[in-house]
Amino acid sequence: MNMILKTGNVAALAARDKGIQVRNITKTYADHVAVDDVSFDLKSGELLTLLGPSGSGKSTTLMMVAGFENPDRGTINVNGSNIVGVDARKRHFGIVFQGYALFPHMTAMENVEFPLRMRRVAPAERLRLAREMLERVGLGSMTHRRPRELSGGQQQRVALARALVFQPHALLLDEPLGALDKNMREKMQYEIKELQRTLGISILFVTHDQEEAMTMSDRIAVMDQGRILQIGSPKSVYEQPNTAFVANFLGETNMISCHVSGVDAERAVVALGDGQRGAAVVSGSGTALSRDIAARLSVRPENVTILRPGDAVDFRLRGTVKQHTFVGRHSRTIITAGEMDFAVITADAARAAKIAMGDIVDFGWKSEHALVITK
Ligand code: ADP
Repeated sequence: MNMILKTGNVAALAARDKGIQVRNITKTYADHVAVDDVSFDLKSGELLTLLGPSGSGKSTTLMMVAGFENPDRGTINVNGSNIVGVDARKRHFGIVFQGYALFPHMTAMENVEFPLRMRRVAPAERLRLAREMLERVGLGSMTHRRPRELSGGQQQRVALARALVFQPHALLLDEPLGALDKNMREKMQYEIKELQRTLGISILFVTHDQEEAMTMSDRIAVMDQGRILQIGSPKSVYEQPNTAFVANFLGETNMISCHVSGVDAERAVVALGDGQRGAAVVSGSGTALSRDIAARLSVRPENVTILRPGDAVDFRLRGTVKQHTFVGRHSRTIITAGEMDFAVITADAARAAKIAMGDIVDFGWKSEHALVITK
């Protein structure tokens, strides 16, 4: 039996967890490049999300880490050795995929015991560890139920317990909450974060859902067409997207054509179509910017203000309110100005109440909220 299991302490994961280093992995099916030179580190104890639209290569990347697919080239390192070619069962990753179901004829307990049985853990120890893990996921009273006697959320908890019980190097989760309704999904997002925190385990998480990624991740790797476009904290990829694709995928944004007339390390001076100039932020994520080029400003709707006398902004436009709707605690306004429709989110109820369809309004934003995007 392995030493860690002998200690029987499911909270002792972090110490031996060195994360995973993925370098330049590529996978081609026929002539289609599914994953194209992807590199990232899953750091010890972090939850890293691969986020991207359907077909962007997230699952294929995860499958290569799991060992169900082999990369054409590249390496995947765990504890200093390359695991490419190592049998999936010998990689010691806990896995929850949508298509990786519970065994229907086994009870919750037997399902969770199964990976320990495969690892030849003694029966008494197996029972103890499986019970402890089922209790941890809140199913201590349902250990004898079979999958069909459990709700969707409970089944996913059993799947998580089964993936965690043998103290894996890391947890690999591919859209694990995809089949659940919104409330259960949010509850499970929280529970997975709690498990990550209390067990100190590293999690590689796949989702196409931007909100889920923002809620759960320590870092997000945004994927498109088999490549990682940007990796960073949810805040940094939201506030400093390096491409229009990342800016749009992580939420709504206004993309305003501009011309870069001056640039230094962190700031650029841009001119809008109407000739007004102002400073804007240059993304810290490697966008090489030169002067005298066409670019776009990305300004999030919550950073556009419909102006009242005395409001100070760095860019100012005039337009007509085309739509104005209340969405819960804030309002959303569409303003047409020139050729473009601007989206504006107003959180201040008193301000929002004064806006009406058909109004001609001045609106604008500050330099600190205008990000120059060139790709
Ligand atoms: P995602 O998880 O982001 O939806 P996938 O990794 O599943 O994307 O797929 C990436 C691309 O590779 C897609 O175009 C998909 O059709 C293709 N692909 C995935 N698996 C296979 C396979 N076994 N054979 C052929 N093409 C595949």
